[in-house]
Amino acid sequence: MSKSEQLFAEAQQYIPGGVNSPVRAFRAVGGTPLFIRRAEGAYLYDADDKRYIDYVQSWGPMVLGHAHPDVIEAVVEQAQSGLSFGAPTELETELAEELCRLWPNMDLVRFVNSGTEATMSAIRLARGYTGRDKIVKFEGCYHGHSDSLLVKAGSGALTMGVPSSPGVPASLADHTITLNYNDADGVRQCFDEIGDQIACIIVEPVAGNMNCIPPLPGFLETLRQVCDQHGALLILDEVMTGFRVSLTGAQGHFGVEADITTLGKVIGGGMPVGAFGGKREIMEKIAPLGPIYQAGTLSGNPVAMVAGLETLRLVQEPGLYEDLTAKTDRLVEGVLAAAREAGIPLTANRAGSMFGFFFTDEPQVSNYQQVMACDNERFNRFFHGMLAEGVYLAPASYEAGFMSAAHSDKDIEDTIAAARKVFGQLG
Ligand code: PLP
Repeated sequence: MSKSEQLFAEAQQYIPGGVNSPVRAFRAVGGTPLFIRRAEGAYLYDADDKRYIDYVQSWGPMVLGHAHPDVIEAVVEQAQSGLSFGAPTELETELAEELCRLWPNMDLVRFVNSGTEATMSAIRLARGYTGRDKIVKFEGCYHGHSDSLLVKAGSGALTMGVPSSPGVPASLADHTITLNYNDADGVRQCFDEIGDQIACIIVEPVAGNMNCIPPLPGFLETLRQVCDQHGALLILDEVMTGFRVSLTGAQGHFGVEADITTLGKVIGGGMPVGAFGGKREIMEKIAPLGPIYQAGTLSGNPVAMVAGLETLRLVQEPGLYEDLTAKTDRLVEGVLAAAREAGIPLTANRAGSMFGFFFTDEPQVSNYQQVMACDNERFNRFFHGMLAEGVYLAPASYEAGFMSAAHSDKDIEDTIAAARKVFGQLG
Protein backbone atom coordinates (compact mmCIF):
# COMPACT_ATOMS: atom_id res chain seq x y z
CA MET A 1 0.00 0.00 0.00
CA SER A 2 1.37 3.44 -0.90
CA LYS A 3 1.49 6.17 1.76
CA SER A 4 -1.12 8.10 -0.24
CA GLU A 5 -3.49 5.12 -0.12
CA GLN A 6 -2.94 4.83 3.61
CA LEU A 7 -3.47 8.56 4.18
CA PHE A 8 -6.55 8.60 1.96
CA ALA A 9 -8.13 5.78 3.97
CA GLU A 10 -7.48 7.71 7.19
CA ALA A 11 -8.77 11.00 5.75
CA GLN A 12 -12.05 9.40 4.72
CA GLN A 13 -12.77 8.60 8.37
CA TYR A 14 -12.97 12.27 9.25
CA ILE A 15 -13.48 14.33 6.07
CA PRO A 16 -16.34 13.74 3.58
CA GLY A 17 -14.75 11.74 0.76
CA GLY A 18 -11.35 12.36 2.35
CA VAL A 19 -10.97 15.76 0.67
CA ASN A 20 -11.84 19.41 1.20
CA SER A 21 -12.67 20.08 -2.45
CA PRO A 22 -14.39 17.33 -4.46
CA VAL A 23 -12.20 17.22 -7.57
CA ARG A 24 -9.20 16.28 -5.42
CA ALA A 25 -10.75 12.88 -4.72
CA PHE A 26 -9.87 11.52 -8.22
CA ARG A 27 -13.50 10.36 -8.66
CA ALA A 28 -13.44 11.29 -12.36
CA VAL A 29 -10.29 9.33 -13.19
CA GLY A 30 -10.52 6.63 -10.53
CA GLY A 31 -7.76 5.54 -8.17
CA THR A 32 -6.26 7.21 -5.13
CA PRO A 33 -5.40 10.91 -4.95
CA LEU A 34 -1.78 11.73 -4.31
CA PHE A 35 -1.21 13.14 -0.86
CA ILE A 36 1.36 15.89 -1.25
CA ARG A 37 4.11 16.47 1.25
CA ARG A 38 5.95 19.36 -0.38
CA ALA A 39 6.38 21.26 -3.62
CA GLU A 40 9.14 23.24 -5.24
CA GLY A 41 9.23 25.03 -8.60
CA ALA A 42 7.60 22.84 -11.23
CA TYR A 43 7.46 19.80 -8.96
CA LEU A 44 5.17 18.15 -6.46
CA TYR A 45 6.47 15.45 -4.11
CA ASP A 46 3.96 12.95 -2.76
CA ALA A 47 3.90 11.23 0.61
CA ASP A 48 6.25 8.53 -0.75
CA ASP A 49 8.59 11.32 -1.93
CA LYS A 50 7.94 10.51 -5.59
CA ARG A 51 8.44 13.59 -7.80
CA TYR A 52 5.90 14.81 -10.37
CA ILE A 53 6.11 17.56 -12.98
CA ASP A 54 3.03 19.54 -12.00
CA TYR A 55 0.64 21.11 -14.54
CA VAL A 56 -2.10 21.79 -11.97
CA GLN A 57 -0.09 24.36 -9.99
CA SER A 58 -2.67 24.41 -7.19
CA TRP A 59 -5.34 24.98 -9.87
CA GLY A 60 -3.68 28.10 -11.20
CA PRO A 61 -2.23 30.32 -8.47
CA MET A 62 1.39 29.20 -8.69
CA VAL A 63 2.31 31.01 -11.89
CA LEU A 64 5.88 31.41 -10.59
CA GLY A 65 6.04 27.74 -9.61
CA HIS A 66 5.79 26.38 -6.08
CA ALA A 67 7.49 27.89 -3.05
CA HIS A 68 9.27 30.71 -4.84
CA PRO A 69 12.01 31.71 -2.36
CA ASP A 70 11.14 35.45 -2.44
CA VAL A 71 7.45 34.77 -1.76
CA ILE A 72 8.26 32.36 1.06
CA GLU A 73 10.69 34.83 2.61
CA ALA A 74 8.08 37.62 2.53
CA VAL A 75 5.47 35.33 4.11
CA VAL A 76 7.78 34.14 6.88
CA GLU A 77 8.88 37.68 7.68
CA GLN A 78 5.29 38.96 7.82
CA ALA A 79 4.10 36.01 9.90
CA GLN A 80 6.55 37.02 12.60
CA SER A 81 4.69 40.34 12.95
CA GLY A 82 1.34 38.66 13.51
CA LEU A 83 -1.09 36.57 11.49
CA SER A 84 -4.26 38.68 11.51
CA PHE A 85 -5.28 41.98 13.06
CA GLY A 86 -8.88 42.58 11.99
CA ALA A 87 -7.88 46.18 11.38
CA PRO A 88 -6.51 47.91 8.29
CA THR A 89 -2.88 47.55 7.22
CA GLU A 90 -0.88 49.46 4.64
CA LEU A 91 -0.26 46.15 2.86
CA GLU A 92 -3.89 46.07 1.71
CA THR A 93 -3.55 49.56 0.23
CA GLU A 94 -0.32 48.56 -1.52
CA LEU A 95 -1.89 45.53 -3.16
CA ALA A 96 -5.08 47.43 -4.02
CA GLU A 97 -3.03 50.25 -5.55
CA GLU A 98 -1.09 47.76 -7.65
CA LEU A 99 -4.29 46.16 -8.98
CA CYS A 100 -5.90 49.53 -9.76
CA ARG A 101 -2.72 50.67 -11.53
CA LEU A 102 -2.48 47.56 -13.69
CA TRP A 103 -6.12 46.79 -14.50
CA PRO A 104 -8.26 48.79 -16.87
CA ASN A 105 -11.50 50.08 -15.30
CA MET A 106 -10.51 49.22 -11.72
CA ASP A 107 -10.86 52.37 -9.62
CA LEU A 108 -11.60 50.62 -6.33
CA VAL A 109 -11.07 47.03 -5.20
CA ARG A 110 -12.21 45.00 -2.17
CA PHE A 111 -10.30 41.93 -0.92
CA VAL A 112 -11.99 38.70 0.16
CA ASN A 113 -10.69 35.20 0.94
CA SER A 114 -11.58 33.16 -2.15
CA GLY A 115 -12.77 33.31 -5.72
CA THR A 116 -16.19 32.15 -4.55
CA GLU A 117 -16.53 35.15 -2.26
CA ALA A 118 -15.34 37.47 -5.01
CA THR A 119 -17.95 36.36 -7.55
CA MET A 120 -20.73 36.04 -4.97
CA SER A 121 -20.09 39.61 -3.80
CA ALA A 122 -19.79 40.90 -7.37
CA ILE A 123 -23.21 39.43 -8.17
CA ARG A 124 -24.76 41.06 -5.10
CA LEU A 125 -23.19 44.35 -6.09
CA ALA A 126 -24.52 44.08 -9.65
CA ARG A 127 -28.00 43.27 -8.37
CA GLY A 128 -27.93 46.05 -5.80
CA TYR A 129 -26.55 48.58 -8.28
CA THR A 130 -29.03 47.85 -11.07
CA GLY A 131 -32.02 46.97 -8.87
CA ARG A 132 -32.56 43.85 -11.00
CA ASP A 133 -32.50 40.17 -9.96
CA LYS A 134 -31.72 38.12 -13.05
CA ILE A 135 -28.16 37.16 -13.95
CA VAL A 136 -26.76 35.50 -17.05
CA LYS A 137 -24.05 32.87 -16.91
CA PHE A 138 -22.80 30.24 -19.35
CA GLU A 139 -23.08 26.49 -19.26
CA GLY A 140 -19.83 24.87 -18.12
CA CYS A 141 -18.46 28.07 -16.59
CA TYR A 142 -17.64 27.81 -12.89
CA HIS A 143 -17.66 30.82 -10.63
CA GLY A 144 -17.35 29.14 -7.24
CA HIS A 145 -20.00 27.44 -5.18
CA SER A 146 -22.40 30.20 -4.12
CA ASP A 147 -26.11 29.50 -4.66
CA SER A 148 -26.82 31.81 -7.58
CA LEU A 149 -23.82 30.54 -9.51
CA LEU A 150 -24.04 26.81 -8.93
CA VAL A 151 -26.43 26.34 -11.81
CA LYS A 152 -25.15 24.32 -14.81
CA ALA A 153 -21.63 24.97 -13.50
CA GLY A 154 -18.29 23.53 -14.58
CA SER A 155 -15.21 22.17 -12.80
CA GLY A 156 -15.79 19.74 -9.91
CA ALA A 157 -19.53 20.31 -10.18
CA LEU A 158 -19.40 18.97 -13.73
CA THR A 159 -17.09 16.12 -12.80
CA MET A 160 -19.38 15.02 -9.97
CA GLY A 161 -22.39 15.11 -12.29
CA VAL A 162 -24.04 17.79 -10.13
CA PRO A 163 -23.62 20.95 -12.23
CA SER A 164 -26.79 22.21 -10.52
CA SER A 165 -26.59 21.28 -6.86
CA PRO A 166 -29.36 20.11 -4.57
CA GLY A 167 -29.68 22.67 -1.80
CA VAL A 168 -29.87 25.62 -4.18
CA PRO A 169 -33.44 26.93 -3.79
CA ALA A 170 -35.36 26.72 -7.07
CA SER A 171 -36.65 30.23 -6.49
CA LEU A 172 -33.06 31.51 -6.49
CA ALA A 173 -31.91 29.33 -9.40
CA ASP A 174 -34.84 30.78 -11.39
CA HIS A 175 -33.00 34.08 -11.46
CA THR A 176 -29.95 32.50 -13.10
CA ILE A 177 -30.24 32.27 -16.87
CA THR A 178 -27.75 29.89 -18.43
CA LEU A 179 -26.72 30.36 -22.05
CA ASN A 180 -24.26 28.57 -24.35
CA TYR A 181 -20.65 29.74 -24.19
CA ASN A 182 -19.46 31.28 -27.47
CA ASP A 183 -23.03 31.61 -28.77
CA ALA A 184 -23.29 35.36 -29.42
CA ASP A 185 -26.67 35.01 -31.17
CA GLY A 186 -28.16 33.28 -28.12
CA VAL A 187 -26.99 36.18 -25.95
CA ARG A 188 -28.51 38.79 -28.28
CA GLN A 189 -31.79 36.91 -28.40
CA CYS A 190 -31.97 36.65 -24.60
CA PHE A 191 -31.31 40.39 -24.19
CA ASP A 192 -33.84 41.24 -26.91
CA GLU A 193 -36.46 39.37 -24.88
CA ILE A 194 -35.69 40.29 -21.25
CA GLY A 195 -32.64 42.57 -21.31
CA ASP A 196 -34.28 45.13 -19.01
CA GLN A 197 -34.57 42.52 -16.22
CA ILE A 198 -30.94 41.43 -16.30
CA ALA A 199 -28.54 42.76 -13.66
CA CYS A 200 -25.36 41.33 -15.14
CA ILE A 201 -23.58 38.82 -17.28
CA ILE A 202 -20.85 36.88 -15.49
CA VAL A 203 -18.42 35.01 -17.71
CA GLU A 204 -15.02 33.36 -17.64
CA PRO A 205 -13.33 35.32 -20.45
CA VAL A 206 -11.39 32.14 -21.19
CA ALA A 207 -13.40 29.21 -19.85
CA GLY A 208 -11.09 27.10 -17.73
CA ASN A 209 -13.57 24.92 -15.90
CA MET A 210 -14.78 22.86 -18.87
CA ASN A 211 -11.22 22.16 -19.96
CA CYS A 212 -9.83 25.24 -21.76
CA ILE A 213 -12.15 27.12 -24.14
CA PRO A 214 -11.03 30.52 -25.39
CA PRO A 215 -13.71 32.97 -26.55
CA LEU A 216 -14.45 32.97 -30.29
CA PRO A 217 -13.76 36.31 -32.00
CA GLY A 218 -16.66 38.68 -31.28
CA PHE A 219 -18.13 36.76 -28.32
CA LEU A 220 -16.80 38.96 -25.51
CA GLU A 221 -17.44 42.06 -27.62
CA THR A 222 -21.08 41.02 -27.96
CA LEU A 223 -21.38 40.66 -24.19
CA ARG A 224 -19.99 44.17 -23.75
CA GLN A 225 -22.39 45.51 -26.36
CA VAL A 226 -25.62 43.99 -25.00
CA CYS A 227 -24.74 45.06 -21.44
CA ASP A 228 -24.22 48.65 -22.63
CA GLN A 229 -27.44 48.61 -24.64
CA HIS A 230 -29.58 47.24 -21.78
CA GLY A 231 -28.04 48.84 -18.69
CA ALA A 232 -26.64 45.53 -17.36
CA LEU A 233 -23.16 45.12 -15.90
CA LEU A 234 -20.46 42.89 -17.39
CA ILE A 235 -18.59 40.87 -14.75
CA LEU A 236 -15.45 39.31 -16.17
CA ASP A 237 -14.51 36.52 -13.79
CA GLU A 238 -10.72 36.58 -14.03
CA VAL A 239 -10.15 34.46 -10.92
CA MET A 240 -8.35 31.97 -13.15
CA THR A 241 -7.25 34.13 -16.09
CA GLY A 242 -6.03 37.16 -14.11
CA PHE A 243 -2.21 37.43 -14.16
CA ARG A 244 -2.19 34.17 -16.10
CA VAL A 245 -3.42 34.74 -19.65
CA SER A 246 -1.43 37.98 -19.54
CA LEU A 247 -0.34 40.52 -16.91
CA THR A 248 -3.77 42.12 -17.29
CA GLY A 249 -5.58 38.84 -17.77
CA ALA A 250 -8.03 38.18 -20.55
CA GLN A 251 -9.10 41.84 -20.58
CA GLY A 252 -5.62 42.90 -21.63
CA HIS A 253 -5.33 39.97 -24.02
CA PHE A 254 -8.68 40.44 -25.82
CA GLY A 255 -9.20 44.16 -25.29
CA VAL A 256 -12.62 43.95 -23.65
CA GLU A 257 -13.27 45.84 -20.41
CA ALA A 258 -15.44 44.75 -17.50
CA ASP A 259 -17.65 46.82 -15.23
CA ILE A 260 -16.64 44.54 -12.36
CA THR A 261 -13.62 42.23 -12.44
CA THR A 262 -13.20 39.31 -10.06
CA LEU A 263 -9.72 38.07 -9.20
CA GLY A 264 -8.25 35.28 -7.07
CA LYS A 265 -5.61 32.56 -7.36
CA VAL A 266 -2.42 34.37 -8.60
CA ILE A 267 -3.10 37.57 -6.62
CA GLY A 268 -2.67 35.57 -3.41
CA GLY A 269 0.46 33.73 -4.58
CA GLY A 270 -0.89 30.51 -3.04
CA MET A 271 -2.55 32.10 0.00
CA PRO A 272 -6.37 32.42 0.23
CA VAL A 273 -7.17 35.73 -1.50
CA GLY A 274 -9.90 36.92 -3.81
CA ALA A 275 -10.89 40.39 -4.92
CA PHE A 276 -13.58 42.24 -6.82
CA GLY A 277 -13.11 45.67 -8.25
CA GLY A 278 -14.39 48.05 -10.86
CA LYS A 279 -15.62 51.47 -11.70
CA ARG A 280 -15.80 53.94 -8.82
CA GLU A 281 -19.50 54.70 -9.16
CA ILE A 282 -20.32 50.99 -8.89
CA MET A 283 -17.84 50.11 -6.12
CA GLU A 284 -19.00 53.07 -4.04
CA LYS A 285 -22.27 51.21 -3.47
CA ILE A 286 -20.43 48.71 -1.21
CA ALA A 287 -20.52 49.13 2.60
CA PRO A 288 -19.36 51.24 4.38
CA LEU A 289 -19.69 53.80 1.53
CA GLY A 290 -22.97 52.40 0.27
CA PRO A 291 -25.82 50.12 1.37
CA ILE A 292 -24.72 46.83 -0.24
CA TYR A 293 -23.27 44.72 2.55
CA GLN A 294 -20.11 42.66 2.28
CA ALA A 295 -17.51 41.84 4.95
CA GLY A 296 -14.88 39.33 6.16
CA THR A 297 -12.99 38.63 9.42
CA LEU A 298 -9.83 37.54 7.61
CA SER A 299 -10.22 39.67 4.47
CA GLY A 300 -7.02 41.49 3.52
CA ASN A 301 -5.05 39.16 5.76
CA PRO A 302 -1.50 40.54 6.11
CA VAL A 303 0.32 37.29 5.35
CA ALA A 304 -1.83 36.73 2.28
CA MET A 305 -1.28 40.34 1.15
CA VAL A 306 2.52 40.04 1.19
CA ALA A 307 2.35 36.75 -0.74
CA GLY A 308 0.26 38.55 -3.35
CA LEU A 309 2.47 41.64 -3.41
CA GLU A 310 5.64 39.64 -3.86
CA THR A 311 4.06 37.48 -6.56
CA LEU A 312 2.81 40.52 -8.47
CA ARG A 313 6.24 42.13 -8.20
CA LEU A 314 7.86 39.04 -9.69
CA VAL A 315 5.38 38.51 -12.53
CA GLN A 316 6.14 42.02 -13.79
CA GLU A 317 9.72 41.07 -14.63
CA PRO A 318 10.20 41.73 -18.35
CA GLY A 319 9.47 38.78 -20.63
CA LEU A 320 7.79 36.54 -18.06
CA TYR A 321 4.48 36.21 -19.90
CA GLU A 322 6.13 35.90 -23.33
CA ASP A 323 8.24 33.07 -21.92
CA LEU A 324 5.23 31.36 -20.32
CA THR A 325 3.29 31.50 -23.58
CA ALA A 326 6.24 30.18 -25.61
CA LYS A 327 6.68 27.27 -23.19
CA THR A 328 2.96 26.49 -23.32
CA ASP A 329 3.11 26.50 -27.13
CA ARG A 330 6.10 24.11 -27.09
CA LEU A 331 4.35 21.72 -24.73
CA VAL A 332 1.08 21.74 -26.66
CA GLU A 333 2.74 21.35 -30.09
CA GLY A 334 4.94 18.52 -28.79
CA VAL A 335 2.06 16.58 -27.25
CA LEU A 336 -0.09 17.06 -30.39
CA ALA A 337 2.76 15.78 -32.56
CA ALA A 338 3.22 12.75 -30.29
CA ALA A 339 -0.52 11.98 -30.56
CA ARG A 340 -0.40 12.29 -34.36
CA GLU A 341 2.56 9.86 -34.53
CA ALA A 342 0.55 7.36 -32.47
CA GLY A 343 -2.62 7.86 -34.53
CA ILE A 344 -4.56 9.22 -31.52
CA PRO A 345 -7.08 11.94 -32.43
CA LEU A 346 -6.30 14.89 -30.19
CA THR A 347 -7.15 18.60 -30.30
CA ALA A 348 -5.76 21.34 -28.07
CA ASN A 349 -6.68 24.85 -26.96
CA ARG A 350 -4.47 27.39 -25.26
CA ALA A 351 -4.54 30.97 -23.99
CA GLY A 352 -1.36 32.37 -22.49
CA SER A 353 -0.19 29.77 -19.96
CA MET A 354 -3.55 27.92 -19.83
CA PHE A 355 -4.04 24.90 -22.05
CA GLY A 356 -6.26 21.88 -22.56
CA PHE A 357 -6.23 18.66 -24.57
CA PHE A 358 -9.36 17.03 -26.01
CA PHE A 359 -9.60 13.42 -27.14
CA THR A 360 -11.76 14.08 -30.19
CA ASP A 361 -11.71 14.08 -34.02
CA GLU A 362 -13.08 17.64 -34.06
CA PRO A 363 -10.45 20.14 -35.27
CA GLN A 364 -11.75 22.85 -32.92
CA VAL A 365 -13.52 22.61 -29.56
CA SER A 366 -15.29 25.82 -28.60
CA ASN A 367 -18.37 24.96 -26.55
CA TYR A 368 -19.72 22.84 -23.74
CA GLN A 369 -21.50 20.30 -25.96
CA GLN A 370 -18.27 19.54 -27.79
CA VAL A 371 -16.40 19.15 -24.50
CA MET A 372 -19.00 16.69 -23.26
CA ALA A 373 -18.67 14.63 -26.45
CA CYS A 374 -14.94 13.97 -25.94
CA ASP A 375 -13.59 10.51 -25.08
CA ASN A 376 -13.38 10.66 -21.29
CA GLU A 377 -12.40 7.05 -20.87
CA ARG A 378 -9.34 7.62 -23.05
CA PHE A 379 -8.46 10.75 -21.10
CA ASN A 380 -8.62 8.76 -17.85
CA ARG A 381 -6.17 6.15 -19.19
CA PHE A 382 -3.94 8.96 -20.46
CA PHE A 383 -4.06 10.66 -17.04
CA HIS A 384 -3.00 7.50 -15.19
CA GLY A 385 -0.31 6.71 -17.76
CA MET A 386 1.16 10.18 -17.34
CA LEU A 387 0.95 9.93 -13.55
CA ALA A 388 2.93 6.68 -13.67
CA GLU A 389 5.54 8.55 -15.76
CA GLY A 390 5.77 11.30 -13.11
CA VAL A 391 3.56 13.93 -14.76
CA TYR A 392 0.69 15.37 -12.72
CA LEU A 393 -2.22 16.57 -14.87
CA ALA A 394 -5.57 17.74 -13.51
CA PRO A 395 -7.47 14.62 -12.39
CA ALA A 396 -10.49 15.34 -14.61
CA SER A 397 -10.91 16.07 -18.31
CA TYR A 398 -12.94 19.22 -17.55
CA GLU A 399 -10.03 21.18 -16.12
CA ALA A 400 -7.49 23.45 -17.76
CA GLY A 401 -3.73 22.83 -17.45
CA PHE A 402 -1.27 25.48 -16.26
CA MET A 403 2.35 26.24 -17.13
CA SER A 404 4.58 28.00 -14.59
CA ALA A 405 7.68 30.13 -14.89
CA ALA A 406 9.56 27.34 -13.09
CA HIS A 407 9.02 24.67 -15.79
CA SER A 408 12.31 24.12 -17.61
CA ASP A 409 12.84 23.11 -21.23
CA LYS A 410 13.84 19.69 -19.91
CA ASP A 411 10.57 19.39 -17.94
CA ILE A 412 8.67 20.10 -21.14
CA GLU A 413 10.76 17.62 -23.17
CA ASP A 414 10.28 14.98 -20.46
CA THR A 415 6.53 15.60 -20.50
CA ILE A 416 6.34 15.23 -24.28
CA ALA A 417 8.43 12.03 -24.10
CA ALA A 418 6.07 10.68 -21.41
CA ALA A 419 3.05 11.53 -23.57
CA ARG A 420 4.65 9.77 -26.56
CA LYS A 421 5.14 6.64 -24.46
CA VAL A 422 1.62 6.74 -22.99
CA PHE A 423 -0.05 7.40 -26.39
CA GLY A 424 1.77 4.28 -27.63
CA GLN A 425 0.06 2.26 -24.89
CA LEU A 426 -3.42 3.76 -25.34
CA GLY A 427 -4.35 1.90 -28.51
N1 PLP B 1 -14.10 31.67 -10.65
C1 PLP B 1 -13.33 30.92 -11.45
C2 PLP B 1 -13.18 31.30 -12.88
C3 PLP B 1 -12.66 29.82 -10.93
O1 PLP B 1 -11.89 29.08 -11.73
C4 PLP B 1 -12.83 29.50 -9.57
C5 PLP B 1 -12.15 28.32 -9.00
O2 PLP B 1 -11.57 27.52 -9.66
C6 PLP B 1 -13.64 30.30 -8.79
C7 PLP B 1 -14.26 31.39 -9.34
C8 PLP B 1 -13.83 29.99 -7.33
O3 PLP B 1 -12.66 30.24 -6.64
P1 PLP B 1 -12.36 29.54 -5.22
O4 PLP B 1 -12.15 28.09 -5.50
O5 PLP B 1 -11.13 30.25 -4.74
O6 PLP B 1 -13.53 29.80 -4.35
